[in-house]
Amino acid sequence: MVRYSILGSGSCGNGYIFSCEGQSILVDCGYSFKQMLLRMEQGGFTLDTVQALFLTHLHPDHAHSAGTFARRTGRPVYVSRRCYEHGRTEYFALNIAPECQRTIEPGTDVQVGPFCVRCFYTSHDSPGSCGYSISVDNKCFVIVTDTGVYSQEMVEYARRADVLFLESNYDVQMLRHGPYPLVLQRRVAGERGHLSNDQARSFLLDAGFDSSRKPVHLIHLSDNNNCVELVQESTMQFNAHVCERGACYFYELD
Ligand SMILES: [Zn+2]
Ligand SMILES: [Zn+2]
Repeated sequence: MVRYSILGSGSCGNGYIFSCEGQSILVDCGYSFKQMLLRMEQGGFTLDTVQALFLTHLHPDHAHSAGTFARRTGRPVYVSRRCYEHGRTEYFALNIAPECQRTIEPGTDVQVGPFCVRCFYTSHDSPGSCGYSISVDNKCFVIVTDTGVYSQEMVEYARRADVLFLESNYDVQMLRHGPYPLVLQRRVAGERGHLSNDQARSFLLDAGFDSSRKPVHLIHLSDNNNCVELVQESTMQFNAHVCERGACYFYELD
């Protein structure tokens, strides 16, 4: 059995935990460490089971307390090789203890306890940003977030997923008519920004999802340029679960 949780998603913070056979891994650590622990406790996850942290990228809403995690646990923190090489200023600002620093490369499996983890690059304004495919107990979880465009590679990963986490960041009209200045609108909607609701829907179509078989969690909704109802409307045919900003969700999978 695998237990997993969306500890939170959105610009206020992001975190996911997967647990099997008494061992866990975290993906992203975007809240304060105290808040991460509180959220884990709510779902019955304990820090001593966590074997490693995998970061999608170095923006604070994903990496805020990665350094504290490393200092408190002594466990490895993985970033993509490109992130390590090209995001050095942000990376060193996290203050991850040298003995905890690890890199992961696309196409290479990292085995942590029962978890087999792979990364794939995303298109975002943070060097070496990536998504993850996590295989454990004959189940495959795929996380696609913080990417301005999606690639065929991401679609292929999603096709093989039993559970998909997919960014659905903004509604095009809300962004256009919302409070963001033009330069910021262009950043969000640009190739190195975020996925819109329309792009999320196209992604699900391309990946061959239908309404019944596989859970889809739509994540990382914008505070200002999206709302749950609009995401539900645009992805209705997939029966997807829309994650409210900042909310925790807990699941078990046999
Ligand atoms: Zn980001
Ligand atoms: Zn983000």
